[in-house]
Amino acid sequence: MIKVCKFGGTSMADGMTMLRVKEIVERDPARRYVVVSAPGKRYSGDYKVTDLLYETDRDVKEGGHVGEAYAKIADRFRSIGKELGLSLDVSALLEETARAIEKRRSRDFTASRGEYLTGRIMAELLGVPFLDGAEVIRFRQGRLAEEETDRLLRAALKGKPRAVVAGFYGADEEGNVVTFSRGGSDVSGAVVARAAGAELYENWTDVSGFLACDPHIVAGPKQIKSLSYKELRELSYMGANVLHSEAIFPVREAGIPVRILNTFRPEDEGTLIVPSARYEYGDLPVTGIAGKKDFTVVFLEKSLMNAEIGFAHKVLTVLRRHGVSFEHMPSGIDTMSFVIDSAELGGGVLEEIEREIEEAVSPDSLRVFGGIALIAVVGHGMSSKVGIAARLFSAIARAGVNVRMIDQGSSELNIIVGVENEQYERTVRAIYEEFFREG
Ligand code: ADP
Ligand code: ASP
Ligand code: MG
Repeated sequence: MIKVCKFGGTSMADGMTMLRVKEIVERDPARRYVVVSAPGKRYSGDYKVTDLLYETDRDVKEGGHVGEAYAKIADRFRSIGKELGLSLDVSALLEETARAIEKRRSRDFTASRGEYLTGRIMAELLGVPFLDGAEVIRFRQGRLAEEETDRLLRAALKGKPRAVVAGFYGADEEGNVVTFSRGGSDVSGAVVARAAGAELYENWTDVSGFLACDPHIVAGPKQIKSLSYKELRELSYMGANVLHSEAIFPVREAGIPVRILNTFRPEDEGTLIVPSARYEYGDLPVTGIAGKKDFTVVFLEKSLMNAEIGFAHKVLTVLRRHGVSFEHMPSGIDTMSFVIDSAELGGGVLEEIEREIEEAVSPDSLRVFGGIALIAVVGHGMSSKVGIAARLFSAIARAGVNVRMIDQGSSELNIIVGVENEQYERTVRAIYEEFFREG
């Protein structure tokens, strides 16, 4: 039996938490491969090492040298080294890392050093070999090269009954370090689980599993005992950041279940994420709620649009020309809308797109709504129960919220609604009350 364990930033926050991690790992001999993040926040208002590394990158590009941000990072790692009483010379390692950052001047390389240093320390603490992400995780054209990574990892793990792997980064063919997007150590953990042929991928964090919605919005939401890969994908893509939205692919392919566990309450059962076929429906129609703010909806209307060959193609060509992707495309007989992350539309791009769409398809009307939040209500149980949509929309209406967009899409396990940013939290609470509050 092999388990791969990934520990997130809060689990790596200081020497004390690292000792907890050591205890967790050593309690179960199946926990053979450990993937680590960089130290996260120790308390609210604290900084994450990765954020300071992005600041360090700016310092180096402006002044040629690491600055105050790096000094904070160095303090943090030195005190971890002291707390743990390691024989590893942490100061020398930090010095060497600073020089490498100044020499390479690469944003991704700099950002990756949090996981690199943490990996070195954890390997020493556990007394097992360290595997550098750059040696075992391969990127091509900025994307994870799954097959190649799998081969490299298998070769590296062979003959190593245990190891610590640095999360969050790999390297391209030329050896340049490339990182995943933020929270990407979850993806590293998933590729290691796949290559190791693990029976379970344990993802250790600071909550006792996936909650039915963001705990910052609803106090003490219900915990989800079990989720399917598909539900996880929908929820994490739509903003439930517990697990990176791309972490699911490597494990899904190999059918490896994922368990979300709490480093600070290791006895809690957590949430088990399993292939959809093995998934047993709970008695609630909705499994979870997630959402994100700051979308823009571009709404087009034109009589007989449906009969106009190539209409959608012409609009999509405009988006493509600007390198803009869209999240959803709800459409009707004579209407079509595109839901786009507002961050993609800054610097005059939106205005240009509007003008070019007018030119390309001469719509009867073209309207743009900014400041839209999307909320996904997800659950396999939704498709088999009548009246879920009715309950959803009347709950939203009762809360006095106006729905700006609906996308029931082709996926039968979710309904997405768009509301004004300002109404986001209120809407999530109303939906939660409707589907989860007992009595
Ligand atoms: P890590 O550093 O361990 O990777 P993250 O911060 O990435 O941890 O993810 C865990 C955090 O996700 C929790 O502390 C919680 O605040 C937040 N979160 C957001 N939505 C949810 C949800 N639906 N269920 C559980 N946690 C959630
Ligand atoms: N340290 C990185 C981040 O903060 C990666 C991770 O924690 O997974 O995004
Ligand atoms: Mg995370």
